[in-house]
Amino acid sequence: MYANIIVDISHEKVDKTFQYKIPDELNGIMPGAPVIIPFGAGNREIKGFVIETTDICEYDESKIKSILRIDNKSVEIEGKLINLAWFIKNTYGSTMNQALKTVLPVKKKTREIVNRTLILSAKDEEVTELIEKYTKKHAVARLRLLNELMRSHSLPESLVTGKMKVSREVIKSFLDMGIIEIKSETSYRNPVNINDLTPYDIQLTSQQRQIADSIVDSHELVHLIHGVTGSGKTEVYMDVIERTILGGKQVIVLIPEIALTYQTVMRFYRKFGDRVSIINSKLSQGERFDQFTRAKNGEIDIMIGPRSAVFTPFDRLGLIVIDEEHETSYKSENVPKYHARETAIYRASREGAKVILGSATPSIESYHKALDGKYQLYKLNERANSNKMANVEVVDLREELKEGNKSMISRKLDSLIRDRLEKKEQVMLFINRRGYAGFVSCRSCGEPIKCPHCDVSLNLHNGNRMICHYCGYEIPLPKLCPKCDSKYIAAFGTGTQKVEKAVLKLYPTARTLRMDLDTTRNKGDHEKILEAFSNREADILIGTQMIVKGHDFPNVTLVGVIAADLSLFAADYRAGERTFDLLTQAAGRAGRGSKEGKVVIQTYKPEEYSIVAAAKQDYELFYKQEILYRKLSGYPPMINMMAVLVNSEFEEVAQEAASLIKTTLESNKENLMIIGPADCSISKINDVYRKVIYFKHKEQNTITKYKDILEQEIEKYDKSKDVLVQFDLNPLTFY
Ligand code: ADP
Ligand code: ZN
Ligand code: ZN
Repeated sequence: MYANIIVDISHEKVDKTFQYKIPDELNGIMPGAPVIIPFGAGNREIKGFVIETTDICEYDESKIKSILRIDNKSVEIEGKLINLAWFIKNTYGSTMNQALKTVLPVKKKTREIVNRTLILSAKDEEVTELIEKYTKKHAVARLRLLNELMRSHSLPESLVTGKMKVSREVIKSFLDMGIIEIKSETSYRNPVNINDLTPYDIQLTSQQRQIADSIVDSHELVHLIHGVTGSGKTEVYMDVIERTILGGKQVIVLIPEIALTYQTVMRFYRKFGDRVSIINSKLSQGERFDQFTRAKNGEIDIMIGPRSAVFTPFDRLGLIVIDEEHETSYKSENVPKYHARETAIYRASREGAKVILGSATPSIESYHKALDGKYQLYKLNERANSNKMANVEVVDLREELKEGNKSMISRKLDSLIRDRLEKKEQVMLFINRRGYAGFVSCRSCGEPIKCPHCDVSLNLHNGNRMICHYCGYEIPLPKLCPKCDSKYIAAFGTGTQKVEKAVLKLYPTARTLRMDLDTTRNKGDHEKILEAFSNREADILIGTQMIVKGHDFPNVTLVGVIAADLSLFAADYRAGERTFDLLTQAAGRAGRGSKEGKVVIQTYKPEEYSIVAAAKQDYELFYKQEILYRKLSGYPPMINMMAVLVNSEFEEVAQEAASLIKTTLESNKENLMIIGPADCSISKINDVYRKVIYFKHKEQNTITKYKDILEQEIEKYDKSKDVLVQFDLNPLTFY
């Protein structure tokens, strides 16, 4: 056996490896092991890490050197991360190089980063005066900044313009007025002046305390907290985190980017002060590297971030918290298509840490494991601040039609909207539909206008340009149908546009805001809309699923779901789960303040179990039906499933490679179930043809074994250069 070894992992080129022979006494050595090897002409002893073992000798067998010994002195974090990369490569399918680049914090040459901090320089009286003035003028952004500066004295500019959503103009005018000063630093410092924050003093309820205690006392690996939104899961996490840190260990907290709001971030700062660091996707490579370096140097104890924070190079990892564990954003869309939850559990098991999963609507996978006794299960059934859960009502749209109401808005929803408009409370209308912007089709021949490079319809932007969302191909809106020359071509309004039209017709005086792909093209649009709604500049917010997650609007007392079943038509086995999750989240938007909320779900399929269960806000009811369906139809978590994607510029090559994969799988002796090959639902992107084959088996080991076999077969295939094969284990997307 031979080992491929890297000797300098701080380098960008993690693919620079050297091969050594594994001596007999080191048989079974694992990727990630730190080893001492003779290096160069003088056989100088240096340290390296095994990244792969193989039985193929890539050099002259007679000249290859042997590993000297394992470096027992150091069980370094790099070794652990390399092992994690190996797990990812092995489980999800990729090259070791791709996996290493995903896992290791790679230093890129970046320009120096200057951190600017805003410091309050005005006197208290002056500030009080200004606050009065801005309150009168309703200048919310200015007020927010002043109040926060009063509390923390200094704030990083990135936080102010980012999470706090204060514009540069405001900062400039404060500077001009002499209210603030700006301090610039090149080195990384704590983003918040911790000493000036109001301390965090929340006492856990007895139920919360019980959960926190049993997690701390337990020796189990994974703990799932199933608790409704607002039930205080985050308080439980923070309590366990605090005790983990007191024990000298470090903690990773994964939160979906969309939920990583200013309030959440400040909550952690207030409780843990300068031992916290936060990463998000907006950080540059260099900034990210800095944060990881601080983690590695032990300058912080807690790292908060989305998916990739699971790779934080903590050496004394004690706990990984995964909030909203059901979120699909925990799965990487790029190769390696790793799942952060599974990766976290593997990492924790290797490093003697625990994992806490939390959700109001746990993934079917996790709940199944919890009921199976593999995870510890805890419940929090009530909101901590005793706000009531919203009252949910289902309206059957078929009945509406029978009664002659052809509008998108049922009579029930209509009367409630009128009531809220009268009371000056706010309404959210939600279209359960993934973001399809308007496409244009011909009313004579029925053909939609398609992208010539991709098998999808072009989307209309600003009423005059047609754009392909996959490859960027762009043309002006044609005057005549390209197929039949008819001039009767027309745009189908997006769902949200249609709803807005209907709303404005029914309630001409209502102020509306619309949030969908079209209104959020530019950076910051998203925030602007939410901020405007939060400032009560509109009565009704209309949107796709974008508006559903993570935002708190205390004045919203009515949420209407216009057509709940649309996501059920999507042809994938997770449609029910997604519908239940979205409806539950939508219901969670109503009544976040002290007023009770009301939710109206409009549907053509009121008997569908995901809708029935969502209306009752009954997760268990949903789970029971869903797991039965997964069992009967053979879907995860009852089995494991691998999608094999075949991409090629040449249709025949894609076809041939797909057949080769199928034949290879068919020669199995383990009763693999094979589906396909078939064209992907989008059969061509950017002139690359796409085919997909699925194979299923109960055991994940068997799936991994056949993935490895396929990788070898593809490598041997004589046109392997013209084809790209990718794997997706238990995919969350439908190909
Ligand atoms: P979740 O994470 O389950 O959505 P949070 O932890 O965010 O819930 O709690 C919701 C709200 O209730 C927060 O404002 C939180 O500060 C408050 N809260 C939670 N637990 C308590 C408690 N024991 N005492 C006082 N307030 C609490
Ligand atoms: Zn036509
Ligand atoms: Zn295209």
